[in-house]
Amino acid sequence: MDDAPLLAEIARRRDALVGLTQDLIRIPTVNPSGRDYRRICDYLAERLLAQGWDVQLIRATGAPGDCEAFPRWNMVARFQNGPGPCLHFNGHHDVVEPGQGWSRDPFGAQIEGDRIYGRGACDMKGGLAAAVIAAEAFLATCPDFRGAVEISATADEESGGYGGVAYLAEQGFFAPDRVSHVIIPEPLHKDRICLGHRGVWWAEVETKGRIAHGSMPFLGDSAIRHMGAVLEEIEARLYPLLASRVTAMPVVPEGARHSTLNINSIHGGQVEPQPGDTSLPAPCVADSCRIVLDRRFLIEEGLGQVKSEIRSLLDGIAARRADFRYEIRDLFEVEPVMTDREAPVAAATARAIARVLARHPQFVASPGTYDQKHIDRIGRLKNCIAYGPGLLHLAHQPDEWVGIGDMMDSARVMALVLADLLAPAR
Ligand SMILES: [Zn+2]
Repeated sequence: MDDAPLLAEIARRRDALVGLTQDLIRIPTVNPSGRDYRRICDYLAERLLAQGWDVQLIRATGAPGDCEAFPRWNMVARFQNGPGPCLHFNGHHDVVEPGQGWSRDPFGAQIEGDRIYGRGACDMKGGLAAAVIAAEAFLATCPDFRGAVEISATADEESGGYGGVAYLAEQGFFAPDRVSHVIIPEPLHKDRICLGHRGVWWAEVETKGRIAHGSMPFLGDSAIRHMGAVLEEIEARLYPLLASRVTAMPVVPEGARHSTLNINSIHGGQVEPQPGDTSLPAPCVADSCRIVLDRRFLIEEGLGQVKSEIRSLLDGIAARRADFRYEIRDLFEVEPVMTDREAPVAAATARAIARVLARHPQFVASPGTYDQKHIDRIGRLKNCIAYGPGLLHLAHQPDEWVGIGDMMDSARVMALVLADLLAPAR
């Protein structure tokens, strides 16, 4: 189809895009604790209702953090034009706290040259605004499209997404009869398509000992020495093994193309004294030592394999070390996710990037997780990517900004994807 009218319509809406981004930044939806969620949902709902969208406000009642003072509100807007596929844009509306070091008002949405400054400018109110403008321009120029356009603004991505996308997915909002394609306009940059992320497994390992007087440690059994054996084994055998594994996933930065393990914390023996406590420690042999493991794994490794690798490492120590006893507790797990680059939404976005930016996109994957995990696991929808304006390294930083030109280009790309996937056959 001739995309010139659609691209011209985006160009006409530059001021609208800037104004919308500023309005969103000025609503300080800081998480934690999760403030002003209802206000930002109402703002978007009012805008889209006035243009004929069906709008639902959904509170994630009972989700972590949901309470009367900080209710977890989400907005889902749908514009249906007869039967056909649905392209859904999902943006989280929460932002992290501003933190120190700002030279501008974090909620002022100040414009300087091509940049709009503010907390959430790039992560990800700029992306959400670009998706809204893309959808509005598409509806204005292609009124006879087939199917549906959806936009959701969701809570709590910054704290795991349980009061946001996970809740909506559990309610069936990403069921195949409702949604066919999903774009999450996270700040991956306008020429990159993010296909998914590595997996995560957090676990706590505890070694057991026996308490005794510290002057006669031979009468007890030190859990800390047992943990030392665990750490030695991890250093000597596990780290080289993890470093030798390489994924075919296009993870950036490249260091994250290997399996990784971070030992998040270690605690052994007596509890740490409170600040201001001037007493000396009591002489005791430690009867417990705990570490928290943060294992990031590749799509080529299964979660089961990742878990049994740690177990067999521990069982191996138990087989040769006297009195070695341990417990292991699962804390958190997310399977790796990767959309095929030939999946319809990925391929359409690649075509649109080539058209708008005259270059091939870079396909990437993320070292950590984001809301795609819930769409994949709970929603069982595989045709999902992250694509949006903004530079990821600016996210969560002081003086965060988003480029107006980049938002315009991303809006052009998203509008062309709508036209590609939903336009009537000619
Ligand atoms: Zn984000």
